[in-house]
Amino acid sequence: MDPHFSQLSEHLYVHHGHVNIGILRDGDRALLIDPSGTTFSTTLAELGITNVERMLFTHHHRDNVLGFPIADNVRVGVPAKEAPWFAEVETFWNDPQYRWHLYNYHPHNLLLADAIRVTDTYTEGAQMAWGSALLTVLETPGHTDGSITYLIDVDGKRFAFTGDLIYDEGQLWELYSLQKGQQTSDYHGFLGAREELKESLEKVRQALPTALIPTHGVVMDTPDRAIDALLERLAYCYDKYVAISALRHYFPKLFTEFEGHPGHMPIREGKPPPEFLRHFGTTWLIISENGEAFVMDCGSPNVIKQIQQLQADSEVSEVTQFWVTHYHDDHVNAIPEFQETFPCETIADSVVDAVITNPIGFRLPCISPAVTRVDRITRDGDSWQWNEFTMTAYHFPGQTYYHGGLLVEGRGVRMFFAGDSFTMAGIDDYCSGNRNLLGTDVGYEKCLRLIQALKPTHIFNCHVDPAFDFTDAEIACMLDTLADREKCYTALFPWDHANYGMDEHWVRCYPYEQEITPGETAQLRVEITNHSPEPRTATAQPMLPPAWDVEIDPAHTTIPPKVDGHIDFSIPIPQHCKALGRIVVPVDLTYNARPLGQFREAIFVLTCSTNC
Ligand SMILES: [Zn+2]
Ligand SMILES: [Zn+2]
Repeated sequence: MDPHFSQLSEHLYVHHGHVNIGILRDGDRALLIDPSGTTFSTTLAELGITNVERMLFTHHHRDNVLGFPIADNVRVGVPAKEAPWFAEVETFWNDPQYRWHLYNYHPHNLLLADAIRVTDTYTEGAQMAWGSALLTVLETPGHTDGSITYLIDVDGKRFAFTGDLIYDEGQLWELYSLQKGQQTSDYHGFLGAREELKESLEKVRQALPTALIPTHGVVMDTPDRAIDALLERLAYCYDKYVAISALRHYFPKLFTEFEGHPGHMPIREGKPPPEFLRHFGTTWLIISENGEAFVMDCGSPNVIKQIQQLQADSEVSEVTQFWVTHYHDDHVNAIPEFQETFPCETIADSVVDAVITNPIGFRLPCISPAVTRVDRITRDGDSWQWNEFTMTAYHFPGQTYYHGGLLVEGRGVRMFFAGDSFTMAGIDDYCSGNRNLLGTDVGYEKCLRLIQALKPTHIFNCHVDPAFDFTDAEIACMLDTLADREKCYTALFPWDHANYGMDEHWVRCYPYEQEITPGETAQLRVEITNHSPEPRTATAQPMLPPAWDVEIDPAHTTIPPKVDGHIDFSIPIPQHCKALGRIVVPVDLTYNARPLGQFREAIFVLTCSTNC
């Protein structure tokens, strides 16, 4: 068995649990950095530490804060910029803006479930003497907006506790925390915090530490080499992202410095759509020879008005079918009103159906609270006739995992309605929360293989007026870049596949949120995607509020390679439960024998009944 802790110098130890915890000791007293998790008390006992005086945290993530009790007399220090994200977390959990639509992701979803008491806040340059050591704070944003590094000068050496800025030489713990908008919303900011991360790593380097101790990861005693390797790899990975990014179409100014880079796909010209199509907002509409309309998506009431205008102008007789491309709010917000106005058959792919008929069950980027009625669920390859057109529905995990594609053949053209998945500049994967998986037969690889096989004459994006297509060479360029990405991103993370570092939702609770009455039993499923080429075991345990006095035993499952597995829990909600409202229930996870702490969460909304 691995040792639980190592000694870095006479007074400094590091506990190696699901995260690294710094232990600066002075006799039986200690100052701790990122104390968390349930196994940590054993290490303190082994070291003979009986008096924890201070607990310092590098950043606001739940997995490096919770699990180790905070006694009343302990001083608790956090980054000043993140103080509300420790002390006032209810503000965020109870704010509908933090639950619906979701174009901005700061604070991160790995926020504490319950607030903790904070006594000290630190900004750049803050210093404190403790025992024989001197601590200095560096503001080092990147992994989170307010992350700080604690430099500890002790026993003639200087150690840097860097939070999650770096995992190991050339590696990051995960990438989705770096999703950040600089000139756009966070939604469009894939790896948007990389410049901040870079500046922070340079600042740490200039402080000339003997060793870097990350929150997640391994102690690095050659900081220069570790940082250089990470910066080089990140630059390569980002270049492979820009090479085929659809975002170059929407925000060309963001990418001027990349123009003409070798291997970057040139941006293609569009072409005019056939005259029997109309485009309003994010909606495409097909008008049949008999005047009937087939409509796709409805993000705004304006679309309804525009269709009514077509009817008034006798261009359209009635709307007879409706297809939903994906769950994003700008495609579904006005569907309830649309369905009342145009009582036609609503059709969606099974993965899209799952989200739009029960959005409360999910927490995903751009999610709308609007509930859609779906009359017909399609499976991959289902075909039907609509007037003179043959329609074929596909699973199309492009812009998001929860996305469909529709081939429409007739009147001499083969049109592929790709939702938001492509522009003339390439693929639309600029939000890591959208679950754009890398690998064979998943994500954009699957989408591009389908386009390669179907050879549509026109591809349509819901946000783009012109139609377009791709040459065989362009499709090959995108597939090659994806294959390169799978390799370089896998090397970036301490996982056996890139998707663990890129897919924020590889572990998720279903339903994410549910309403429940005290005295009832809640059902909660923890879903886990095994992105590895081998079977993996997972153990999960929901962590209920102590006041409930209910403990749920951990349960486990073994998941075959490259598929989803799940663990089901029945959770009795006590009758005596007085605290109504939103309760955040973190789920502790161990995956492939690696403890991950309180990795994900579910929301229980306790509502009043006659019992309470
Ligand atoms: Zn973190
Ligand atoms: Zn979208």
